[in-house]
Amino acid sequence: MAERTKVVRCAENGCSESTFYTYRTQREYAEITQRQAQRPYKCTRHDTPDEVLRPDNTERTHVLVASRVPFMGRRGGWLPGLFWLEEGRDSGSGFTFGPGFKAHASDFPEGTRLVVTARVEMPDPAEDEARLSGALALAADDITPDPDAGLEAIRARTKSAAADAPASADSTPHQK
Ligand SMILES: [Zn+2]
Repeated sequence: MAERTKVVRCAENGCSESTFYTYRTQREYAEITQRQAQRPYKCTRHDTPDEVLRPDNTERTHVLVASRVPFMGRRGGWLPGLFWLEEGRDSGSGFTFGPGFKAHASDFPEGTRLVVTARVEMPDPAEDEARLSGALALAADDITPDPDAGLEAIRARTKSAAADAPASADSTPHQK
């Protein structure tokens, strides 16, 4: 059987996001259906909505602790090195990263807390307006010549036009 796809909509009411799963056999299709029944697909906005930064949710802080992890074998003991664990969890990674940082848990003493904060700073509408009018004033400066400099240029042009063609000097627009 060729590979086929099953499109699944986000389980949140009214959400149109979707994903798809591929399957080759009826058994794989049944597995997808069963998994969806147990834990329906939700999109990145609706899977963990508290974690989604929004204009009314502008800051998130998450803490990982450099911890030892027990070795899950018959011998017991600990896995070598340290791992970044969420509080209350017993599995994690020895290395973690996000935009602008990377951290190896074993570079720190056990118990080190990695505090990751993400904060959005939206533009202040009043500041934005001030910036915009500032930019407009600058642009106006660019296109409005210094009146004196302009007059000089006109006089110079008029003079040379008069020298080149004295008869037509009076009809140049610069004369006005
Ligand atoms: Zn959704």
